[in-house]
Amino acid sequence: MIDKTKREVQLKENLRILIENIEEERLKYSSHQIIQLVAVSKYVSLYDIVALYNAGQRTFGENKVQDLKLKAQSLDNLPIQWHMIGTLQENKINQLISLKPTMLQSLDSIKLAKSIQSKLEQNNTKLNCLLQVNSSNELTKSGFSLDSAIDSYKEILEIAPNINLQGIMTIATNTDDKKIIESCFKKTKDIFDKLTPIGAKILSCGMSDDYKIAIANGANMLRIGSRIFK
Ligand SMILES: *Cc1c(COP(=O)(O)O)cnc(C)c1O
Repeated sequence: MIDKTKREVQLKENLRILIENIEEERLKYSSHQIIQLVAVSKYVSLYDIVALYNAGQRTFGENKVQDLKLKAQSLDNLPIQWHMIGTLQENKINQLISLKPTMLQSLDSIKLAKSIQSKLEQNNTKLNCLLQVNSSNELTKSGFSLDSAIDSYKEILEIAPNINLQGIMTIATNTDDKKIIESCFKKTKDIFDKLTPIGAKILSCGMSDDYKIAIANGANMLRIGSRIFK
């Protein structure tokens, strides 16, 4: 059996070290930058989430609606902000809306935006979303192409008044080549800069292995799982 107290101490220490490293990179980028950390809890149990909550973390990310539902409902006594970060299937939209997540980071097609809009309208509610950009240009990854992202962002602002578009999200190429990762983040930042005049505020880039590169390229939201919950 795992020693629960030991695990709590470990998670608290992992979070402390991560925040220290984020702070170091943040100051290199700009002392005025504010960076939000989403702890990706998709691999872990309620116990680990509560332990991290007790260490001060308040925002968590899940990539499946059914997991988000289970965890959010089990922990509804805690004021946790939940982010949906994985591909959303059309038949799960209503379920997601009923959970009132803080944000959907993976709005990845016009078709999905239209379906979400119609469900939001029916429920007379709104949803904060990020537009997912496919910066790695990999066919296996979802999201809007770099070429179409800006026009699609504007289109969604127009056709989906119940969607509060807050910015963009990307997942870099999964590689050890820093230059390639950097190029994904730089291209996404260029798009973000063109969208800030029309209200984009959040640039969600950076995971456990590439968060430092993301910060150096202007990310103000990080999604980190394995580095915390190891
Ligand atoms: C799993 C996941 C993360 C976190 O990945 P780690 O490498 O464990 O930090 C971030 N973003 C998305 C979309 C994910 O699915």
